[in-house]
Amino acid sequence: MPLPDYKKQLLPTLKKHFGYDQFRAQQQEIIEYVLEGNDALVIMPTGGGKSMCFQVPALLFEGLTLVVSPLIALMKDQVDGLKANGIQANFYNSSQSAEEQHAILEQVINAQLKLLYVAPESLAGLSNILNERYVSCIAIDEAHCISSWGHDFRPSYQQLGFLKKSLPNIPIIALTATADKATRQDILDQLKIPNAQQFISSFDRQNISLEVRSGTEKVKQIISFVKKHANESGIIYCLSRKNTEELAKKLNSNGVPATAYHAGLSFNERSKVQEDFVYDHTQVVCATVAFGMGIDKSNVRWVIHHNMPKNIEGYYQEIGRGGRDGLPAHALLFHSYADVIQLRRFASGASNEEVQIAKLERMKQFSEATTCRRKILLSYFGELLEENCGNCDVCKNPPQIFDGTIIAQKILSAVYRLKEKEAIGTILDVLRGSQNVNILEKGYNNLKTFGIGKDIAWKDWQHFIIQLMNQGYCEIAFHKNNALQLTEFSKNVLFKGAKVSLTRPVHIAEPKVKEKVKRTKTKRKSIPTNDTLFERLRQLRYKISKEENIPAYLIFSDKTLIEMERDRPMSIMDLMDVSGVGQHKAETYGDEFIEEIMKFLGSKPKKEKKRSTHLITYDLYKKGLSIEEICMQRKLRDTTIYSHIAKLHSDGKDINIYDFVSKREVEDVKKAKQNIEGSTSLKAYYDYFDEQLDYFKIRLALSVIDK
Ligand code: ADP
Ligand code: ZN
Repeated sequence: MPLPDYKKQLLPTLKKHFGYDQFRAQQQEIIEYVLEGNDALVIMPTGGGKSMCFQVPALLFEGLTLVVSPLIALMKDQVDGLKANGIQANFYNSSQSAEEQHAILEQVINAQLKLLYVAPESLAGLSNILNERYVSCIAIDEAHCISSWGHDFRPSYQQLGFLKKSLPNIPIIALTATADKATRQDILDQLKIPNAQQFISSFDRQNISLEVRSGTEKVKQIISFVKKHANESGIIYCLSRKNTEELAKKLNSNGVPATAYHAGLSFNERSKVQEDFVYDHTQVVCATVAFGMGIDKSNVRWVIHHNMPKNIEGYYQEIGRGGRDGLPAHALLFHSYADVIQLRRFASGASNEEVQIAKLERMKQFSEATTCRRKILLSYFGELLEENCGNCDVCKNPPQIFDGTIIAQKILSAVYRLKEKEAIGTILDVLRGSQNVNILEKGYNNLKTFGIGKDIAWKDWQHFIIQLMNQGYCEIAFHKNNALQLTEFSKNVLFKGAKVSLTRPVHIAEPKVKEKVKRTKTKRKSIPTNDTLFERLRQLRYKISKEENIPAYLIFSDKTLIEMERDRPMSIMDLMDVSGVGQHKAETYGDEFIEEIMKFLGSKPKKEKKRSTHLITYDLYKKGLSIEEICMQRKLRDTTIYSHIAKLHSDGKDINIYDFVSKREVEDVKKAKQNIEGSTSLKAYYDYFDEQLDYFKIRLALSVIDK
């Protein structure tokens, strides 16, 4: 049972541990419901904030909250994130040794853990503590994995029904981003929680802006896009392994560092790509859809679909990996008929071919929409949006409608004269009067319609044909080499003078990178890239992330850094007013961030009134306190104190460096320095010593060597 006055403690707990001031929609309701001992099923989109629904209760329940999660790779990051907030958490899975596992059980027995993440197949190892004496709550993350209806079915999830049987009084909270009804029912049945209340949140992720472009000169468009989004993390989804590699290569040769990710890589290679992305070492990954499932990174700023996804579920899940921190993120999809044709080919012959093709059709409709795209997306998930969203390309650039009867007549008569045997490409060649081999060989240059459309660009013709198809004036015969064919409606246009309305193509002007820089100066966008306070804070965050070996976004989210830049806190108290700064983070990282802010503002850290932070450390050191004692007294991280020690030493203060590193270690670092070429980063040294020599030792040794 939770503490009696837990309701009063909800907001303070959220603030103290996570630094947030408010719950998001439904979070509080769910949390209270679970704290009262009820079972719940939570359906929220990716990035909606599911974790908080069991993490806050975990802090208020007396005992342990067990979190069953299918992704071993993700557990460490999740636990690191909790620890960074000063929460006692750990994970238990097959990657650990027997001793490690034993130590974790001890922690549980000694009530030293609030949350324990466990892989379903490792639950057996927890039998000693799997009882109501120790466990207060059970969360089943990614609960759709239990259902063979779902797309990520995991057999190991199917044994989870025993949990309710052995711990009947313990609330179970199941969470997933998969909405369909059959899966939901399956979750309740299999977990044996028939009375669980279902909390279904809106699937709308308003901060993700939606855009669809035609796939002409795709690579050029992508390069230009990514260059405009320098210093931002993004994912480019491709259809095939080959695509990912080719695209990554092209990006690299155009000065955009990017890596490829696909199932053909070895496990280690894949882990490395994923880790480099999560840790901000790599900003751009060209990946197949296999990439992302194990990624909680909150600062993915954009997602590009180089190819059309197979269906809307997949598309929505993939773009949902952007903007988890709630800041603006961009989803850009390239639409091409070639992709639709290829996806149809993949689907044909499958046991559920019809379903697959119907889903693809919906995806195609979304891509070709001339009305608010978000409305279409949400209606797919059964949610109706009253107003247009204002954050999709259609809303921002509403299509201009004009009388397109003559254009329609030209297209349809070309189809007619080509005897409904040719695909779009050839029709366009005829309209534009191209003299290529195919046209000349077939004698199409003698047709009456040949060259009647020279005045309109190829791209625009393509746009008009797509619209005619959407309005039912013609269709693709996929079984006849994708030939474009007439329909009942076409005759009305060709022979009965029916009028056709079309929309004008939107031309996306790709501003040059230089122009963009100018613009950002006058009108600040969400994420600045130049020498701004944000950038300095981002660099500091990156430095700490390398030292502590945890992903940067777990230290502070982009959103928190942006607020720091805006509010410029100069004291720990002010810093704690920033969203995302809980007590623990303020105490551990606050000092360094405040120092950086003051440095940026040019205000010398008020020497007379307040001694600089490293000098305060110096005072304590001179008094003979150990590093541990200084950390305790100053409520700072040991790495911070060591950085003070290094600075004091290089400033010429009386520090006996050999209290901290041995002569031997200094010698080793000196040798390493001769061997490590070019790179001066501490990480390079850290790697050189196979992670066996601590960062601070390296740093101190270098301050002796460089003297
Ligand atoms: P999900 O598991 O649903 O994909 P997460 O639980 O990872 O989403 O949450 C997404 C992001 O939103 C995280 O960065 C989390 O810290 C943040 N978040 C969750 N709840 C809140 C809140 N009440 N206020 C601000 N940010 C929140
Ligand atoms: Zn819209």
